[in-house]
Amino acid sequence: MSTTEQRVAVVTGAARGIGAATAIRLAAEGRAVAVIDLDEAACKDTVEQIQADGGKAIAVGCDVSDEAQVEAAVARIADELGAPTVLVNNAGVLRDNLLFKMSASDWDTVMNVHLRGAFLMSKACQKHMVDAGFGRIVNLSSSSALGNRGQVNYSAAKAGLQGFTKTLAKELGKFGITANSVAPGFIVTEMTKATAERVGMGFEDFQAAAATQIPVQRVGRPDDIANAIAFFTGDAAGFVSGQVMYVAGGPLN
Ligand code: NAP
Repeated sequence: MSTTEQRVAVVTGAARGIGAATAIRLAAEGRAVAVIDLDEAACKDTVEQIQADGGKAIAVGCDVSDEAQVEAAVARIADELGAPTVLVNNAGVLRDNLLFKMSASDWDTVMNVHLRGAFLMSKACQKHMVDAGFGRIVNLSSSSALGNRGQVNYSAAKAGLQGFTKTLAKELGKFGITANSVAPGFIVTEMTKATAERVGMGFEDFQAAAATQIPVQRVGRPDDIANAIAFFTGDAAGFVSGQVMYVAGGPLN
């Protein structure tokens, strides 16, 4: 591929939050972007924003934990935009609870979306990356991978994604494919808003309390994470692979 040819990026969970900011950022860097989310109609705002900025994007409805839907989505993306060689596994859900109250279904849902979803999407896209001799995979981990009360399912999934990332890096490196993980701290999105509601705090108060614990003294924004993802997905980052970058306004214990 010549450097002027447009690479195709796939961002999952891109109807809003970190995924939407990432899709918009990658489009601004010249990628054609497949905006994936559970509900295709929900992707409209992200796609329209990219198109208004002069970029190219399509909306794709897909549950990343469903193998048939993932295969159909990736085939459609390859057909409509071209071979997907950049993949951001960002789709995520929370089902927080203390261990003794957590249902097996809440455990399974979180494992399925984060781990099975990243596995299915990576497997479907890697074929195109191997053929192209180029690929960039970024998996969204979390500061919760280090352990977080009430998130035994989510922290296990996010730690699992770090091992998944390192193994992809080892298996796929010889095909020109890198795999890295971005682990956000507190980012202002619907996900953290839902957490504030669950713990009975107003979202503004919740953010202010979180900011006092962060060395840079502010909470993160989706663009903070999109910046890190843009670095890992760039053509110039070909010698950076198997890494986990915490983007949390400071070091974590
Ligand atoms: P968000 O605002 O809740 O957005 C997540 C998106 O993923 C939603 O649009 C959601 O769709 C979609 N999604 C859920 N299940 C899906 C599935 N099975 N298939 C396809 N799409 C699905 O979350 P966010 O805060 O932007 O988080 C993005 C990623 O960063 C997640 O992996 C999250 O775990 C991680 N992260 C976030 C933070 C933070 O502070 N916000 C911190 C660390 C890590 P629906 O609305 O239809 O469910």
